[in-house]
Amino acid sequence: MLKFLLLAALVLWLLYSPGVRKLIRGALSGESAPPPSQAKPDPAQPVAMVPCAHCGVHLPASDALVNDAGQPFCSEAHRRAGPRRA
Ligand SMILES: [Zn+2]
Repeated sequence: MLKFLLLAALVLWLLYSPGVRKLIRGALSGESAPPPSQAKPDPAQPVAMVPCAHCGVHLPASDALVNDAGQPFCSEAHRRAGPRRA
């Protein structure tokens, strides 16, 4: 009887331990648990920054204007002016 209680306590501890729950969830989904940053995009996470090829100011890659050569620029004016350093 004591063994049964100890086993029940162990099972409950396993079920309610956060780390073990992650492992169980990963095993059930058939893949190792990925880091939270890769599981889903988090708006609070920093975005990739690229430097303007003309003035060097950093801006989010999604906001950058790209010229034919694939160089990022901070604004249309700088894109037309071209890269400062060839
Ligand atoms: Zn610029």
